[in-house]
Amino acid sequence: MAGVRVGNRIIGADAPVTVGWENIPKVEGGPVKRFIFTYFQPFVLFSLIAFWYYAPNSLAVATTAIIIGISFRVLLIGIELINPRHKSWQLTWKELCTDLFYVGLGYTVLRMVDVYIGDGAIIGAIQGAYDWDKFSWFTGLPLLVQALMISLIFDFGQYWMHRGMHNWYPLWLTHAPHHYITQLNINKGAVGNPVELFLIGLGIGGFFDFLPRAALLAGTLGLAIGTYQHINVRFNTPKWWRFLFNTTEHHSVHHSQDFEASRSNYGSTWIIFDRLFGTCIDGEAEKLGMEGGRRMQISETMVYPFTEGYKTTKEWVQRRLRRPGNAQTA
Ligand SMILES: [Zn+2]
Repeated sequence: MAGVRVGNRIIGADAPVTVGWENIPKVEGGPVKRFIFTYFQPFVLFSLIAFWYYAPNSLAVATTAIIIGISFRVLLIGIELINPRHKSWQLTWKELCTDLFYVGLGYTVLRMVDVYIGDGAIIGAIQGAYDWDKFSWFTGLPLLVQALMISLIFDFGQYWMHRGMHNWYPLWLTHAPHHYITQLNINKGAVGNPVELFLIGLGIGGFFDFLPRAALLAGTLGLAIGTYQHINVRFNTPKWWRFLFNTTEHHSVHHSQDFEASRSNYGSTWIIFDRLFGTCIDGEAEKLGMEGGRRMQISETMVYPFTEGYKTTKEWVQRRLRRPGNAQTA
């Protein structure tokens, strides 16, 4: 495969990747369908922002955010059935049952772990260590500015955590299982080794929990934008949206079987950090996964970082032990 040159990298040499927005298929169907799948994403985003802006205090609480989050995901599963991006990504019972296992795991065990040793504890330490009156300049800013700042700061952290996972072997071991998914759908964000979900979760939780409304608004940006990372829906995403935000297209390139393509689009909600640091590839991919699309079982996903880490360490030690005396025979 020849691949396409992007900057000084060759994308799509190992597996097919479509590079460039102009080469990506458009939504097919009548004018109503095309209208809906062009404006759905901005409409939901602006509606949710308006909701968190004007909702009375009694409604602007985390419980409402959780209810909205779950309802939104259920709605998106319906939309995946109506207008899938790729037929090959369509849900089977086996995929659905596996996904639900990880979603359930994410909602229960990780929430508990997070409270004890995750961001909950870190936030507590930070809040105790500083004089928060010094941050009145921040709480005095317009709500949307606060929310944008929170969202950008977290995404900046997520960008580097994710990029670190692709470049530092011990972190990669925790992230690799997530890259064995062979299709995208709404629940795939939850699939992976729990250690990774915990590391990613560190970036998601709120240092800004003392500013509920701004934090909820920032969370909405994550929900109404970041959720589309893993989704099997064809949209005519507006130009400004795909310039600023991470999209299914971007994230499918990141999950591509092509090695170079997978080392791009690290952002979560925003794609601007990838643009800024030279890791953005605008395009899409259909053939996803590792090792030619080998499907990793749940049991392997759970132990992979430890078994692979043990194997690599053992090999490294054996090589070192062999080196001094047997250099000629090796
Ligand atoms: Zn990744």
